[in-house]
Amino acid sequence: MNKPSSKKPAITFLFSDTGGGHRAAAEAIIEAIHAEYGDTLVTKMVDFFKDYAPLPLNYLPDLYPQMVKIPKLWGAFFDLSDGCSQARFMTSAFWPFVSTAARRLAYEHQNEVLVSVHPVVNFFALNALGANHLPYITVVTDLVSTHAMWFDHRADLIFVPTEIARRRALEYGVLSEKVCVAGQPVSTRFSNPSGDKRILREKLGWPQDKFTVLLVGGGEGMGPLTGMTHAIDESDLDIAKVIIAGRNARLEAQLKAVTWENPTYIYGFINNMPDFMRAADVIVTKAGPGTIAEALIAGLPIILYAKLDGQEDGNVDFVENEKVGVWAPDPAMLISTLRGWISQPYAREAVIENCRRAARPDATRMIGHILGARAGLVDLPQEMARDFIGDRSRRTFPRLRPNVKTT
Ligand code: UDP
Repeated sequence: MNKPSSKKPAITFLFSDTGGGHRAAAEAIIEAIHAEYGDTLVTKMVDFFKDYAPLPLNYLPDLYPQMVKIPKLWGAFFDLSDGCSQARFMTSAFWPFVSTAARRLAYEHQNEVLVSVHPVVNFFALNALGANHLPYITVVTDLVSTHAMWFDHRADLIFVPTEIARRRALEYGVLSEKVCVAGQPVSTRFSNPSGDKRILREKLGWPQDKFTVLLVGGGEGMGPLTGMTHAIDESDLDIAKVIIAGRNARLEAQLKAVTWENPTYIYGFINNMPDFMRAADVIVTKAGPGTIAEALIAGLPIILYAKLDGQEDGNVDFVENEKVGVWAPDPAMLISTLRGWISQPYAREAVIENCRRAARPDATRMIGHILGARAGLVDLPQEMARDFIGDRSRRTFPRLRPNVKTT
């Protein structure tokens, strides 16, 4: 075992800004860890593409918004690479190009618990770490269509958000005692709104008396947001629109250049999504797993207007099966769903109730607590882990390895 260099245990999160979900998950867990353990441990975030990968791979986060602009191509690549042997073939083929960078990553973080919230890093980091390392824990941030690269069986523990994701982990050869159904890690701010709808709308400067639709295309402002916004504006529905363009500055500028009929509020990347979700009546979104999990906690009915083929297919099924929203990829479906929910408030209320039932607001706190235990801060009795996991998972939690001792 490597000797820790710092007095405080450290947990490093391996993420990358390919979309907004990986960063959001890492930040949510870090927030929960410090809420529980204060500054008794150190947390860090490493964008492994930007900080470690060699040229041209270090540009992938910047290229990602362009790459996903052709969803069919992305879907074909996802399907072709998804499978144990395909993933092994691909990662092994890349290993000679990235091994130096991966070894540097492993060397620089050898005294830290590593937590991956991204599928791509696992094979490389675990290869470089070898057999003798502090705990390596994966937190899967895709709800259903979880790519094989999430499930490297050398990880010490893998948190998954749903029972379906757990079954996929087992299909990919991970031992069942290493897989824990926790839920999607989402900021605890979604469970603790800073005010009721009236107060939040006042704070945000939105009208109190209008049915308000929140339109989001993930962290990068992806998908046909403009077309959907025009469809709502041109309909006869009396609706206020709030559009979040995320990091897509071009989309933000385009939307701001339009003269809209109905009250319309346009934002770039915002840092107070919990307030926005609590203040809105419905969310129209790309099928991003983070946004879906957040909307469930906020009790916000979901209309999915776009998805990443392959990667987000399962999210659409999840939303429909849980009856927390609908798949409405064309404007006519969007308008008729909105019309239905406005004219039949009880139908929307039923969906809100389903959101509350499907939500996992305890996921982040549980993951944070267990990571603290793995970093050596507390002993976590098996019964306590079970309490955190709750009865929906029908899982027992793996017995913890001995605590990591710090000097
Ligand atoms: N998000 C945010 N501000 C924005 C746009 C998005 O904080 O302006 C967050 C959103 O709340 C969610 C994440 O970015 O946590 C998007 O993750 P998701 O998995 O839905 O989609 P991705 O962007 O990863 O495709």
